[in-house]
Amino acid sequence: MAIDLKQMPKLGFGLMRLPEKDGAIDLSRLEEMVDAYIKAGMNYFDTAYVYHGGNSEKAVKEALTKRYPRESFYLATKLPAWNMKTEDDRDRIFNEQLERCGVDYFDFYLLHSVEDGNVETYEGLNCFDWGIQKRAQGKIRHFGFSFHGSPELLEKVLDVHPEVEFVQIQLNYADWENPVVRSGRLYEILHSRNIPMIIMEPVKGGTLAKLPDALEAKYKAARPNDSIASWALRYTASLDGIMTVLSGMSTEEQMQDNIGTFTRFEAMSEAERVLVHEVRDEMLNVPQIGCTSCRYCTDGCPMGISIPDIFRAVNTMKLYKEEFRPKSFYSGLVSAKKSARASACIACGQCESVCPQHLPIISLLKEASELLDISA
Ligand code: SF4
Ligand code: SF4
Repeated sequence: MAIDLKQMPKLGFGLMRLPEKDGAIDLSRLEEMVDAYIKAGMNYFDTAYVYHGGNSEKAVKEALTKRYPRESFYLATKLPAWNMKTEDDRDRIFNEQLERCGVDYFDFYLLHSVEDGNVETYEGLNCFDWGIQKRAQGKIRHFGFSFHGSPELLEKVLDVHPEVEFVQIQLNYADWENPVVRSGRLYEILHSRNIPMIIMEPVKGGTLAKLPDALEAKYKAARPNDSIASWALRYTASLDGIMTVLSGMSTEEQMQDNIGTFTRFEAMSEAERVLVHEVRDEMLNVPQIGCTSCRYCTDGCPMGISIPDIFRAVNTMKLYKEEFRPKSFYSGLVSAKKSARASACIACGQCESVCPQHLPIISLLKEASELLDISA
């Protein structure tokens, strides 16, 4: 049966950053949060085999599935490529997930983190066909995947697998044009194909919940009673084709704020979108390496350094003040042999002699190496 977006709550409860006590999930607090979320009329829960080292799924059983009728909520979980070596591992993990969660079917089931590296495992172990079989057996109601790759890879996967019913992507107003995430382009691809989207990181891991004072003042002047995080949530939830916006809620305050945003949800007006874009432009107004990606420098580099890609990672780190994604983008380049490490530069000067932007590439690569090279 097709997914009816009108039936789905706009706010989903992400179970990856749960409250903890003495090094374990704090079940009594989680139960209270589950109750508050359900009482507010919402019912989409998103977990995964690997969240909290497997304990998120177990906590779902205690806090949700033992305490509420099965048909009253939607439960989503995910199959991890990195825990599988053979086709038998698909059923082994799936059956373990049913047992851990205390259910006999999942409403939404995802291949976790489709991206370069994982996609080969999912294809090699025929996980797409397997997912469709599970759906035919009634063990999965809807089948899709979460995605962390490039727009080009997304189009390729969707071309080969038109059977996919939904896709989960990272999307927020700050990352719309982030060259490492490119969430605006991912959104356009899915929207043009009418594929419902589940959104993760709408508040960019909390970054968009707290902004510099001058930027917060702009939001407060427009909507004095609304939190800063609510602007990020409303921006994403107001887009066409969004099924659910996931928030990884880890405190009661955060949950109450999110519930408030969605129980009296107002789609974002055009004037508010313009304001968000203004705030974003000011946030991102940081000096960057002025590389235009013309790639004149790369052919002649004796060390095979993909200079513009490395600069892209550095710019993302500076602009978006984050480390994880630029570093994983960089290590992906190096491990796929698309580039040597920045530290491999032998300062021959070939690249600088051809760069139309006259960039001091050798010293910029030294800086990049300090920022990005994890191992010495
Ligand atoms: S200076 Fe470094 S980056 Fe530039 S061409 Fe030579 S080895 Fe490659
Ligand atoms: S030649 Fe200069 S501007 Fe062009 S890709 Fe290389 S570093 Fe960037």
